[in-house]
Amino acid sequence: MGRILIRHADIITLNAGGRILRDAEIAIENGLIAALGTAPADFEPDETVDATDHIVMPGFHNAHTHSPMTLVRGWAEDMPLERWLNDRIWRAESALTADDVYWGAALAAAEMIRGGTVGFADHYFYMDRVAQVVTESGLRANLAWGVFGAESGEVGATLPGIADFVAGWQGAADGRIRTMLGPHSPYTCSPQFLARTAAAAARLGVGIHIHLAESMEQVEHSLAHYDLTPVEMLDRNGVLDVPVLAAHAIYLTEADRTILASRQVTVVQCPTCHMKLGMGVTPVPALQAAGVNVALGTDGPASNNALDMLQEARHAALLQKLHGLDPELMAGDLVLRMATQNGARALGFPLSGELSPGHYADLIMIDCATPRMRPRHDLVANVLYAAGSADVSDVMVAGRWLMRRRVLLTLDEARILDEAERRALRMVGGALHRLRSY
Ligand SMILES: [Zn+2]
Repeated sequence: MGRILIRHADIITLNAGGRILRDAEIAIENGLIAALGTAPADFEPDETVDATDHIVMPGFHNAHTHSPMTLVRGWAEDMPLERWLNDRIWRAESALTADDVYWGAALAAAEMIRGGTVGFADHYFYMDRVAQVVTESGLRANLAWGVFGAESGEVGATLPGIADFVAGWQGAADGRIRTMLGPHSPYTCSPQFLARTAAAAARLGVGIHIHLAESMEQVEHSLAHYDLTPVEMLDRNGVLDVPVLAAHAIYLTEADRTILASRQVTVVQCPTCHMKLGMGVTPVPALQAAGVNVALGTDGPASNNALDMLQEARHAALLQKLHGLDPELMAGDLVLRMATQNGARALGFPLSGELSPGHYADLIMIDCATPRMRPRHDLVANVLYAAGSADVSDVMVAGRWLMRRRVLLTLDEARILDEAERRALRMVGGALHRLRSY
């Protein structure tokens, strides 16, 4: 890995003061940032990188996705959430194999690296195969093996089996892999099952990654069955006693927000998915005012359809400004922090998501030698409102290049494209293939 010196960089640090540096240096040693601004005179790099005309900033953390669902990207369009899940997604997934999960996650990893993502929180099945992709790709990830459970028993993997997964992978790949337990949601899991899962998470020392309050119907169902909101139902059953990644959290009462703020809960807003499926708007300003950590996620590629955190950040800003009829909402670098360090913290990587001495060299370079990135009055605004994921030229995790000059260095991209497409067609029974041959 050695010592790397990046020179002539315009740097968005996202540090406590929101410092921006122009034509500055970053010295990297043993995977960490050793110095920022000007490298020490005695720093002898093994590699020197000229970052002229590039912005260097922290890499993104996608705090909620289902990465292997790349295989059903574009397979269920323009339909409501319930039909989308029942008629299309869960049916296609019934044909899923462990090898499909590997190739689907590999396709996602290639896309994420190309878009400047350095870490992701994944919630799916056969997660040992996703862990394999994380190991090979050089990315960071927090992996949760999804489970559904009723009083009568569990569907899919069992809790003891998942405990083995956690024990086997927590801290693996040089600490790049973290794990959580993944009960699907309060509406597909019974209170008894959630309580058992929460107890297991506490025993294993991990958090819980779950879907929460995605629709008004889910809230009404919870009130009718338990006389509790979904948040109260999770709280009552001990789920909020461990760190929680709560995806969506759209329909919340003021009391719900107070509960979330008083626990270690990160709410993950997935703005593109919320718009595409017509779900609603996560009350981000109110959550942040209450003190809740809010991060950003793409959700699965079937409901987005990209794994593009630059797009997610832009949509997060635009959606709240429109919804609140207030252009001053989501100002400055707030949304970039949600897309980087807020997610990193929730995923278990507190030294990622900020460029400061002692933090991980988890960084990306964005090419500014392109019309939409000029002039450079405001680097944050250029990234948030003008840059596209194709402008990301270089990606580094812990001092290791995963992409250099737009070439993926850890993954066999051509093979991944072929394998993923072949498997995706088999999974949906060749229907897509028939359409394609018209
Ligand atoms: Zn989801």
